[in-house]
Amino acid sequence: MPDLNATHDPARRSWVESANRPDTDFPIQNLPYGVFSAGDGRKRVGVAIGDMILDLSAAEASGVLTPGGADRVFAQGVLNPLMALPPSIWSATRARISDMLDADRGDPTVPLVAQSDATMHLPIFVRSFTDFYASREHATHVGTMFRGAENALMPNWLHMPIGYNGRASTVVVSGTDIRRPLGQIKAPDAEAPEVGPSAKLDFELELGAIVGQPSQMGTPVTTDRAFEMCFGFVLLNDWSARDIQVWEYQPLGPFQSKAFGTSISPWVVTREALEPFRHATPEREKPLLPYLHAASDTNFDIRLEVDLAPAGGPAAVISRTNAKTLYYSTAQQLAHHTLSGCAMETGDLLGSGTISGAQPGSFGCLLELSSNGRTPVPVGAQDRAFLHDGDTVTLRGWCEGPYRIGFGACTGTILPATRRPNGV
Ligand code: MN
Repeated sequence: MPDLNATHDPARRSWVESANRPDTDFPIQNLPYGVFSAGDGRKRVGVAIGDMILDLSAAEASGVLTPGGADRVFAQGVLNPLMALPPSIWSATRARISDMLDADRGDPTVPLVAQSDATMHLPIFVRSFTDFYASREHATHVGTMFRGAENALMPNWLHMPIGYNGRASTVVVSGTDIRRPLGQIKAPDAEAPEVGPSAKLDFELELGAIVGQPSQMGTPVTTDRAFEMCFGFVLLNDWSARDIQVWEYQPLGPFQSKAFGTSISPWVVTREALEPFRHATPEREKPLLPYLHAASDTNFDIRLEVDLAPAGGPAAVISRTNAKTLYYSTAQQLAHHTLSGCAMETGDLLGSGTISGAQPGSFGCLLELSSNGRTPVPVGAQDRAFLHDGDTVTLRGWCEGPYRIGFGACTGTILPATRRPNGV
C-alpha cells in the first residue's frame, strides 16, 4: 500500500558521513525541510542531512535546484512557497535533493552548514491553527477528571474528530521560552474568580500536520485528497493552563488556557518520508459516516517521548507513546474540517490533540500523568504535579525501521509570570 520510490531505498547512503550513522534522525531517506540562518543572519530554506544542513537557497541561486521552474522558492525564509507548489513538484524536488546527497550520484563539493552553527526559525508562516482531540485515551482520561467516569466521552466523540480554532499568532519555534500565563481562575471552593498566574501549567504532546495544498471555500475534500494536501509533520507542544481551562472551557471550548504559546519542532518531516511507516487507525466502536472512511492507512507509526528537566537538573523521560494510536488521522480531520465548506490554506497547522496510550507512563500531559496533581511524577530527585518556572520540556519523535526517520526535538523552558500591569 505505501507508495515507495528510490528516495526510500534503505541501501541509499550519503556522502555526508554523519547521515550514515544508524542513530541519526536525519539519514538520506528523511530529508526534512527547515528555515535557518548562519553568519549573515539571512533566513533561508535548508534540508537536514546527518548533523549538517544543505542550503537550498544556494542550490537554487546556482541553478542546481529549481522546483517546478518557479522563482525564489527557497530564499523567502518560509516553506510556504514550496508548499504551494503541487505535490508532484514536492516529490520531484525530494528526488533531486536525494540524488544531490547520494554517495554515488551526488557532488561532495557542495558546501554544507553545520547544524551547530545555525539558528533555526519558525519553518512556516502559520495561516491558521486548529487543534484536535483525537486520542481516545486522552479524551477518556481528561473527560473522567473534568466530568466523571459516566460522562468521560461526550456522545459526539466516536462520530467525528472534535477540534477548536486556535491561535496562529503565538505558534513559536522550538527553543523559544514560554512565559507562565495570567488568567482568570476560580478555586473549586471560592465564591468568585481571581486573576493570577496559572498554578497548573502543563504541556501537551502532539503531532502537528502542515497543510500544503489549499481547498476551496464551499467544497468538502475526501480523505484521499486530504492526505495528498498534507505537506508534512512536526512535533507540537500545546502548552495548557489547566486551572484557566477548567473555569473557561464550557460552553465553547478552550480559549486563553491554550492561546499563550504553542511550540513546534524546526524540521518539517515530509509526508513522503513517512510513507513506509503508514499505519491503520484503531478499530471503530461505532461505524463512521462515509465521508470519514479512508481506503488506505492514514495514521503513522511514530514513537514519541517526553522528557522534563528542572532548572539546572538532568532531564528525565516521563512519557513514551506512539502516534499510531490516534483514533482520527490527519486525513480524517481535514475531511471533517472542510465538510462545512471551510477553506484550508497553505500553511494551516493542525494539532492532533494530546497523544496518550492506555498505560500509565504513556500519557501525553501532566494532567493525566499526575492525575490532576494527586500523584506527582518522579523527575530525578524531584517530582512534578504541574510545571515549575525554569522547567524545560522536550518532545522527541522517530519512526523505526531499516532506518530512522527522526523529528529532532521540540523544546521550551518556562519563564515566571509577567508582573501584572496596573489595573489587571
Ligand atoms: Mn491540545
